[in-house]
Amino acid sequence: MSTTTLTYECPPMLLGGEWRSGRHAQRSPVRNPANGELLGELGLASTDDLQLALQTTQKAFEHWRQVPAHDRCARLERGVARLRENTERIATLLTLEQGKPLAEARAECAMAADLIKWYAEEARRVYGRVVPARLPNSRMDVLKFPVGPVAAFSPWNFPLVLSARKIGGALAAGCSIIVKGAEETPASVAAMVECLNQELPAGVLQLIYGVPSEVSEILIRSPIIRKVTFTGSVPVGRHLAGMAAQHLKRITLELGGHAPVIICGDTDLQRAVNLMVQHKFRNAGQACLAPTRFYVEKRIYGDFLDAFGAAMQALRVGSGIESSTQMGPVASTRRQSAVRDLIERSVAMGARSVTGLAPEQGSFVAPTLLADVPLNAPVLTEEPFGPVASAMPYETLEQALGMANNNPYGLAGYLFTDSAKTILSVSERLEVGSLAINGMGVSVPEAPFGGVKDSGYGSESGIEGMEAFLDTKFTHYVA
Ligand code: NAD
Repeated sequence: MSTTTLTYECPPMLLGGEWRSGRHAQRSPVRNPANGELLGELGLASTDDLQLALQTTQKAFEHWRQVPAHDRCARLERGVARLRENTERIATLLTLEQGKPLAEARAECAMAADLIKWYAEEARRVYGRVVPARLPNSRMDVLKFPVGPVAAFSPWNFPLVLSARKIGGALAAGCSIIVKGAEETPASVAAMVECLNQELPAGVLQLIYGVPSEVSEILIRSPIIRKVTFTGSVPVGRHLAGMAAQHLKRITLELGGHAPVIICGDTDLQRAVNLMVQHKFRNAGQACLAPTRFYVEKRIYGDFLDAFGAAMQALRVGSGIESSTQMGPVASTRRQSAVRDLIERSVAMGARSVTGLAPEQGSFVAPTLLADVPLNAPVLTEEPFGPVASAMPYETLEQALGMANNNPYGLAGYLFTDSAKTILSVSERLEVGSLAINGMGVSVPEAPFGGVKDSGYGSESGIEGMEAFLDTKFTHYVA
């Protein structure tokens, strides 16, 4: 028996106020993507389990909404402290089931803790406002109330952070929440939820796994659920948005991206390349905010290809458990085939490929740079969601903006330049929800994160993220 099977166990679900096994006839295998090893079989929620989750969340909401904001904050902060104490264990589970290097898994755990901490503090600042009254002896108030029980769907690429955004916002606002975690990465999220749940009234936070279409169908159609939040792919987002619309439920959708990077000739090229190689290949490129389309001013294009290729080929690719690893496998053999196929189809259309090294066993995809990519190549029109970057030269900023905006996604974007004029122009005209200029920070707990166009709508994090879990009520009273 290897060390991974010794340390990994598929978790039960947190359902109806206790940890219990799912009663669905089906189970879902969980594999280590670094070597394909079966880590365990995950129990899934049956229809009865989902009904129990719904009844529990309704009851828990009636209680939690009455808990004063200061108390909600204190409870969440104690949960965050426990989460930080358990970083090493949770990060190891995350690396085993998802593949990212341990250093990235630790950073993800820290980011999840920061997110919940920020929302906990924000619970005490849900102010509402007083509007000047029109009549004597009267008052006009705008009050904020928790929207109600939340159904949250979170994916496998950043299972801790993307669940934490939803859990932190909902609980801080006074909502109860049912989280459907990704079946591919159950144990790390369960370990995080366990840390938080110890400080919460039973049933306020529930964690389930299931057959995704069954879970969303039952939860979104239930009158108990008042708010839906989903991070994942565009087709699933469209489907869930349709169901939410039919039942007039509020929904927040974060549906991925295809981030453009504009690199101008006046920038410090080596600095830009160092930052972007690090950012591009984080989590083997499986990040919605990953830089994917590099538009480089023609006079430095050749130097860019050389510098990017060299930095990329120096990456140490291997099992995330090894401390020297800088890039791990992609999350599954399904993702491996999808990314390789995307690269092959783009090369067949004329893109030139430069690749790094990757192990042969396991779900690895070698870091890849595609140069001179034709504008209709699949790697530019489909979200790559893997360790592949595309590069194209441009002559004028107008041309770069045109190519960058000619894409259905609009989540993150990046710009490298020393020109204030270019910064102004790009910040006004690039069609994205988050823009980093001369850096890579597009997502922090205190600022909104969300997309435009096919990247979805609504924001998570920041006061906008909190607002997503609140209803507004105008009250006008005369003495
Ligand atoms: P997918 O569409 O099969 O699944 C994405 C997520 O949605 C998974 O967590 C899955 O469990 C869930 N899901 C699927 N059907 C569902 C349903 N009917 N109801 C509720 N949840 C459902 O995609 P995938 O193959 O797992 O991932 C590949 C693509 O997904 C990527 O190319 C990327 O576009 C997108 N993705 C985006 C993000 C992001 O951060 N925005 C995260 C993960 C995946």
